[in-house]
Amino acid sequence: MGTKQFKAESKKLLDMMINSIYTHKEIFLRELISNASDALDKLYFKSLTDTSVGLNKDDFAIMIEADKEARTLKITDNGIGMTEKELEQNLGTIAKSGSLAFKKENELGEDVDIIGQFGVGFYSAFMVAKEVKVKSKAYGEEQAFEWRSKGAEGYTVEPCDKETAGTEITLILKDNTEEENYDKYLDQYQLQMLVKKYSDYIRFPIKMEVEHTHYEEEGKEPTVTKEIETLNTMTPIWKRSKSELTDDDYNNFYIEKFMDYEPPITHIHAKNEGTATYDALLYIPARAPFDYYSKDYEKGLQLYSSGVMIMEKCAELLPDWFSFVKGVVDSEDLSLNISRELLQHDRQLKIIAKNLERSIKNELVKLLKNDREKYEKFFSVFGLQFKYGIYQSYGACKDTLKDLIIFPSSFEGKNVTLAEYVSRMKEGQNEIYYACGETKERIDLLPQMETFKDKGFEVLYFTQEVDEFAIKVLMEYEGKKFVSISDAKLDLDTEEEKEEAKKLADDSKEMLEYMQKAIEDKVKIVRLSNKLKTHPVCLASDGNITIEMEKVLNSLPQNENKVKAQKALEINPNHAIFGKLKALYENDKDKLSDYTKLLYAQAQLIEGLPIENPVEFANLVCDLMV
Ligand code: ADP
Ligand code: MG
Repeated sequence: MGTKQFKAESKKLLDMMINSIYTHKEIFLRELISNASDALDKLYFKSLTDTSVGLNKDDFAIMIEADKEARTLKITDNGIGMTEKELEQNLGTIAKSGSLAFKKENELGEDVDIIGQFGVGFYSAFMVAKEVKVKSKAYGEEQAFEWRSKGAEGYTVEPCDKETAGTEITLILKDNTEEENYDKYLDQYQLQMLVKKYSDYIRFPIKMEVEHTHYEEEGKEPTVTKEIETLNTMTPIWKRSKSELTDDDYNNFYIEKFMDYEPPITHIHAKNEGTATYDALLYIPARAPFDYYSKDYEKGLQLYSSGVMIMEKCAELLPDWFSFVKGVVDSEDLSLNISRELLQHDRQLKIIAKNLERSIKNELVKLLKNDREKYEKFFSVFGLQFKYGIYQSYGACKDTLKDLIIFPSSFEGKNVTLAEYVSRMKEGQNEIYYACGETKERIDLLPQMETFKDKGFEVLYFTQEVDEFAIKVLMEYEGKKFVSISDAKLDLDTEEEKEEAKKLADDSKEMLEYMQKAIEDKVKIVRLSNKLKTHPVCLASDGNITIEMEKVLNSLPQNENKVKAQKALEINPNHAIFGKLKALYENDKDKLSDYTKLLYAQAQLIEGLPIENPVEFANLVCDLMV
């Protein structure tokens, strides 16, 4: 059989591995062990339902053998093995997201350190080996095959002899160079250390013949004994007790398992017994995957049943609003052979999911309380998901999320929780005030804002489109309604002021009605405002749909029927313009109509709404100028 060429993609990655000057080449061992462990998992899983496999749990193992003379390192497993076709497909092509992601990062010129963080897989063997041989016999097959490659030139696959199912990988190490001593991968202590460091939690024993030197008596030659030993503790990290684990242990496991290159913000190690028995190790990542806010993103936790992985991404374990959480759940309550369909209705799984949701919430509440800076960083990455959560679940999750959302606020310009807002509300203030706009700066320019700040009311800035929709679903927090500053009806300070305002409104009633007629199809009412300080006018909404919502809804592509907020034009009675309007009402009603149109246009501009008839507006302004 002739030599075959690697697929172009694979060759690229392979070349990178062969020529790698990467300093952590040692991770090749982790990769090969993890592949062996996957292969063992598959056959072990089969053996649970198929007695003809003929192996017990304890029979499954990974073996490491170093031969110093031949300079070879052999990694053997008695797992599922590969057929001839699988050898070709699995080792001749890469289709791995991890490798591809690594490649992308690298083309962008980013740090090559990423090799160490991503699982680069089987090809990493070529960082240390000048030749790799893979003998494999697939479970249930008669014939074994050997795949061989010296790297770039291609590979061969030929029949070979092998007794039992499984895979035996032999690395012929590269020659030592001045910079690199490959012999260290033959050294017993090095290998022991590497297994501990990267593969300690592998559930199957990783065995190696270990030499012990015994110094019995002084002056006498020491004796050397050799024994096959298991190098790893085998208990998966989530099964171990929290007290024996360090943050580093948790973070290393995360980075390796979930192919992130940044340590997580925090982890949750939950052990539960009772109505549901499970161990869970969950992580809150520091950054969002690139596809997080797209439809392609798949949420889910890795699901194990008594230590055997049964599902890569179990979506049922995570509500949408916590879809960013990564982790594993291991429960003895779940049957090994459960199908995806049945799992969805599994009562036990539902209980676990509920518990986990609570644990995640509690962890976030704790973070918010104890490390505000970290929490705000987290929120800037994933907070949007909470707001969508509230909105899309029609409030079903509001008890979980209402204390986790934060908004920028006019109070010292910081982010605040709703609880913080309510706790320092002014005496007599019964509503939570917010203002919508593209940016904080834009909101600060709103005419109403002046008065709210002046009177010492705190205002929440809503700069994300979903904000107002989310709080409309929340409706209230601790009995306090949310009210937009455009719509708020502020109580005046004293009784006299109230009297005076009422009198003023009564006196101007006819004029205001006349003005409304001038812009009848645009606003429902023209009224006097007590929310304006130096600005002449503003717009308010007068109904369930606010002006901000009108903007958002009309910008959605699927909305053909444009919605309209009912609007009110509010006039500042303390502004010089008010006197002018009154005079016009007495002497020049036509002009009053024009002025009303102008004021309405101004108010629209301030609100960031488009002017319906810009030509008319321009002409009116021009008339005034000449
Ligand atoms: P990954 O493990 O992420 O799938 P790798 O490059 O590490 O990617 O391995 C490629 C594939 O080769 C594996 O998915 C698996 O199908 C196969 N493979 C590698 N090593 C073994 C092994 N020891 N036993 C069985 N199959 C293996
Ligand atoms: Mg792998």
